[in-house]
Amino acid sequence: MIVNLSDQHSLLSNWIHEIRSADIQKDRMRFRRNLERIGEIAAYEISKVLPFTDTEVQTPLGVSPSKTLKEQPVLATILRAGLPLHQGLLNYFDQADNAFISAYRKHEKDGSFEISLEYISCPDLDNRILIISDPMLATGSSLVKTIHFLKEEGKPREIHIVTAIACTVGIEYVKREEPSVTIWCGDIDDELTAKGYIVPGLGDAGDLAYGAKVQM
Ligand code: URA
Repeated sequence: MIVNLSDQHSLLSNWIHEIRSADIQKDRMRFRRNLERIGEIAAYEISKVLPFTDTEVQTPLGVSPSKTLKEQPVLATILRAGLPLHQGLLNYFDQADNAFISAYRKHEKDGSFEISLEYISCPDLDNRILIISDPMLATGSSLVKTIHFLKEEGKPREIHIVTAIACTVGIEYVKREEPSVTIWCGDIDDELTAKGYIVPGLGDAGDLAYGAKVQM
C-alpha cells in the first residue's frame, strides 16, 4: 500500500516545501529539523494502523478508560541521510527498539554505481513491526537491499517504509520486490536522473543535513 501524506494539505506540506526550497535548505539545522518533523507526522499517521490495548488509567480524581500502544516497533534507518527522519520517528515512538545500517553508492569510473551495505546493528526482528526510514526513495535498490539484509535478522510481521520524497519508479520497484510493505511518502515525484537523483526532489539529503562528502 502507498500512502502519500501530501494528498491532503497539512503542516507537513509546509515542511516538504521548506526541505525542497534551494534557499531555505541552506539552513542545515532547519533542514534536519524539518525532516525530523516529517518523521514525527509519519509516526503519528502510522500509529493509527498499529494495534492498541484497551486499558484503564488512574487519574488523581478517578479511573478513566484508555488505550495504549500494544507493542513497541523496531525503527531502522540507513546511515547517514536517514538519521533526522529516524529521530523524528523516535521522538514519537519513544520506547522503540532501533536498528542502523550503513549503505552507500559505490561509484564506478563510467558513472554507474552499486549499493554497498556494510554495517548493521539490529535487534531480533522475528514477529516485530519494522519501520524503515529513508528520506529519498529514488531507484529503490538500496531500500530493497536493506530489507533483504534486515530480514537476515529475523522475519518481521509487518514492514512500513517512511520517506520524505519518493519517486514513482522507486515505489514500483519496491512494490514489485516487497509487495507486502506499506510506503508512507511525504510527497511523490515522477522523474529520476541517470545518476539516481529525484527531480524536482530536493538534492542530496545527506549532504544537505550533514555537509558534502568525498565521492567513493
Ligand atoms: N538520494 C538523495 O539524497 N537525493 C536524491 O534525489 C536521490 C537519492
